[in-house]
Amino acid sequence: MAERRPDRWLGPGHHQEFWDWCAKGELRLQRCASCGGISWPVVNTCEFCGSDTLAWEAMSGRGTITSWCTFERDYYRGMLPIPWDTILVELEEGPLFLSNPKGFSWKDITVGMPVKLAFIECEDSGGTYQLPVFEKA
Ligand SMILES: [Zn+2]
Repeated sequence: MAERRPDRWLGPGHHQEFWDWCAKGELRLQRCASCGGISWPVVNTCEFCGSDTLAWEAMSGRGTITSWCTFERDYYRGMLPIPWDTILVELEEGPLFLSNPKGFSWKDITVGMPVKLAFIECEDSGGTYQLPVFEKA
């Protein structure tokens, strides 16, 4: 069953392409053909050089936790169970990716802890979607 979540940001640009790749079980971010940089969050032009020659590249799904935060306040009126853990993952390819832990909590986290990509089915007002999360590697 899909987890109910607050609405995603589905702004202009390439956001739908990101979610389309997630639906296929792939975490893909935009790599620039001009400078090689990987932009994240989704951009219309490279965040490093401004080029618009971007291609969606599959990430390995491996990374390490660089930071985390636990929310103990109910910001979403009961939609999300509290305490609510978020993690900052440094992907093997470099970008920092804000996500949620799957199968563990802040009590288990150490800086540099290896994690691997997983997906969970979620739902918001836009429908169901696959959310990239991370579990212990
Ligand atoms: Zn670039």
